[in-house]
Amino acid sequence: MSLREAFAAVEARVAAACARAGRPRSAVTLVAVSKLHPPQLIREAHGLGQRVFGENYAQELRDKHAALADLPGLEWHAIGPVQPKNAKYVAKAATVFHALDRLDVAQALSQRREGAPLRCLLQVNVAGEATKAGISPEGARTLLEQVRALPNLTVVGLTTLPPLHEDPNASRPYFQALATLARGLGLEALSMGTTGDYEVAIEEGATLVRVGTALFGARPT
Ligand SMILES: *Cc1c(COP(=O)(O)O)cnc(C)c1O
Repeated sequence: MSLREAFAAVEARVAAACARAGRPRSAVTLVAVSKLHPPQLIREAHGLGQRVFGENYAQELRDKHAALADLPGLEWHAIGPVQPKNAKYVAKAATVFHALDRLDVAQALSQRREGAPLRCLLQVNVAGEATKAGISPEGARTLLEQVRALPNLTVVGLTTLPPLHEDPNASRPYFQALATLARGLGLEALSMGTTGDYEVAIEEGATLVRVGTALFGARPT
């Protein structure tokens, strides 16, 4: 499948999921997860009209941000956990940070951010998996209030990565739990759904879906 065909196929599925859910297509942003892929591939996707890209690693984000600075309208989303010492790269390059789960990282981001506040989503470990990053659902309100006290960040929503499963429907209860938690906190953005389960995520209210493999193919190792 060509890159063009892959983007068209995902777009058709996003649109169909929005229609099933009675949501406008404009309610969902497709974040094209380009981690580990070369800048040239992002350039090609930009040529197809894609503007929002997701990167996991702070240094890789820094390098791609610099290498692709000539492309108009690019919007970088940092979607992976960041160490405080690397927060400066995210603060400089990102428009949105999906993986905030530590106050020390929030403080470092706020300290380094210039210009418009960095839009952040708190990452929540809904299933309580020991191997996954993210705060507990019970801890969300406390972190939200702490981050709200910082000047250069705005918390806009929540992110989750449900347990890996072959059946996309297995993710549904975790997506529903995240949506309920966000509603209770008065937060609107929901970053949930990857290649395996983005359609279910859209049905459950995702406003940001993070899709890599379905768009770009397998990642180079
Ligand atoms: C890599 C990654 C994705 C993309 O996963 P795919 O299965 O390739 O769509 C989404 N979110 C996060 C946090 C990731 O690390």
